[in-house]
Amino acid sequence: MFCQTVVILGMGGTIAGRSARPSDNIGYMAAQVDIAELAAAIPSLTDQGPVITEQVAQIDSKDMDFSAWLRLAARVNHFLARPDVHGIVITHGTDTLEETAYFLHRVCQPTKPVVLTCAMRPATALVPDGPQNLLDALTVARQPDARGVLAVCAGTIHSARDVQKVHTYKLDAFSSGDAGPLGYVEEACVRLLRTWQFEQDLTLQAAIKNIENQLAPTEWPRVEIITNYVGVSSAVVNALVACGVQGLVVAATGNGTLHHALESALLEAQLAGVKVVRATRCLNGRVLPRPDDRLPDSKGLSPVKARVELILQLMTQGSAQ
Ligand code: ASP
Repeated sequence: MFCQTVVILGMGGTIAGRSARPSDNIGYMAAQVDIAELAAAIPSLTDQGPVITEQVAQIDSKDMDFSAWLRLAARVNHFLARPDVHGIVITHGTDTLEETAYFLHRVCQPTKPVVLTCAMRPATALVPDGPQNLLDALTVARQPDARGVLAVCAGTIHSARDVQKVHTYKLDAFSSGDAGPLGYVEEACVRLLRTWQFEQDLTLQAAIKNIENQLAPTEWPRVEIITNYVGVSSAVVNALVACGVQGLVVAATGNGTLHHALESALLEAQLAGVKVVRATRCLNGRVLPRPDDRLPDSKGLSPVKARVELILQLMTQGSAQ
């Protein structure tokens, strides 16, 4: 039997949600049930080895914020450093799961598995999906060779870089887009389709450690996301620049195209010292770079992940000065 510990950190979400009627899958309050209670309701949870639970936050993930991220990263790093801990599972709301996953991927860069999981139905539903998702996440966290930040939902394993919520209601609400899932969990067995994804960026890691205790979440660089659409003007960009925005991610159309009015405003913002990154509002594909690009692309990151990346870049640049 595999005997190393897996830690479950509770962050809230629908997986910890309660509704007044079991048949109501949407009219519920997220983030109500304690992680210890959720774990205790699954008798087979400890079948494969010891489990520790800890409540880090109790948040509907639409309200996720930087201070909760900092607390979570600190607890993840704390448990990763323990030799008796093999992996970590994080229960999280689906709405911003991909942003938290990407943040942890860049900030913690774990050589052990850190697996985010979630649910589309509250814990009190007639047929909740949370317990199976939690069991599947534990299976992944116990894989001997697993590493990196992962997401597990509806029997599918995604990497932090690729995972994206793509459905408002279905239990299988996530996709890895073009890249495809990393694998599946089937009856407590992992069927891997690609290798575990793990990127180490020691410079970023060192810089983050350096600033982690010095920069209050309220002082994190302000980076906003804007979108290209029919009839867009320069007004939002100009207003944000006037408010002192430090970074702008534009969810461009198609292969990174921009309305001429928005493009001019963004080029002016860039000239004024604002960091501008072009992502695409398309769900699949990436902005393909060209030698004559005047605004850098997001290197395949979705707009929300490109924003996280830009925040971290701006933070670490600041710390190097
Ligand atoms: N609003 C909820 C949350 O993200 C939705 C969910 O968990 O599915 O916490």
